Amino acid sequence: MKRAALAVALVACATPGESTPDAPGGDGADGSVDGAPRPDAPPGCERPALDAPWLRGMLLDDVGQLAAAPRATSAQRQAARTFLSQRLTALGWPAQTQMYNTGINVYATIPATMGGTGKEVIVGAHFDTVTGSPGANDNASGTAVVLAVARYLADTPCRNSPVTVVLFDQEETGLFGARAFAQTRQPANVRAVHTIDQVAWDQDGDRRFELESPPAALESEWRAAAQAVGVPVTKTTTQGTDHEAFRDRGFSAIGLTEEYVGGDTSPHRHTAQDTAATVNADYLVLAAKLTAQVVLDEVAP
Ligand SMILES: [Zn+2]
Repeated sequence: MKRAALAVALVACATPGESTPDAPGGDGADGSVDGAPRPDAPPGCERPALDAPWLRGMLLDDVGQLAAAPRATSAQRQAARTFLSQRLTALGWPAQTQMYNTGINVYATIPATMGGTGKEVIVGAHFDTVTGSPGANDNASGTAVVLAVARYLADTPCRNSPVTVVLFDQEETGLFGARAFAQTRQPANVRAVHTIDQVAWDQDGDRRFELESPPAALESEWRAAAQAVGVPVTKTTTQGTDHEAFRDRGFSAIGLTEEYVGGDTSPHRHTAQDTAATVNADYLVLAAKLTAQVVLDEVAP
């Protein structure tokens, strides 16, 4: 990921005030307890508990299966797409594909159930890798988080807005999948685009995540969710990964990542050593809970 991000990161590091760490949260920002029914939820509209019994196992299984091989050649990427399509369909969301000139994205649109007219929410991650890297952290981790969000939504009976989960092709060669997908939507019809890239490394154990180039409204949403989940977050100006493709076309877009600018990021990126054995499972679980909290806050009453 982040072909162009290093230069941006250096700029960000050199700009005091761009980095705004928060103290770790703990209690729900709105007074709710993790997964408990909210007092204003309509009957039958309880949200799933974020501390789901399936979460850790599902994330690790998906990372393990994806990172069994690189996903760089046409054949490797096709094998990954087959796996991803099967996973989405098994969750109850029929997988679709978007072909463009050099690649194919995999996605599913999860419909609203409440007859609402809420704008679409997009949650995505790139599934491809550089040549020769199994890409467990970059980016089977983000892909697994997106699949976990799809599963949480299957357990969320009341949804006011459609959510499209999308696994992008060819991020590593130039954001091609995300740029192609962005052309299928109009910014006026999309509330938010969230992209997840490299969320399985936390060597210093501080549980901190970075929010990449967030518009103010999305930064507020993510900070509230981070407080509810109990993780600290830092805003950065990082570009160079999938959210940039949407921002360039006028969408409200944000990226989630480990401490890429902060320096606590996988040293195995883009190497043969980016294997499932290097994945920090506890941190990956937090990434999934944080992302799910944001999406549920956006679409569930
Ligand atoms: Zn990446």
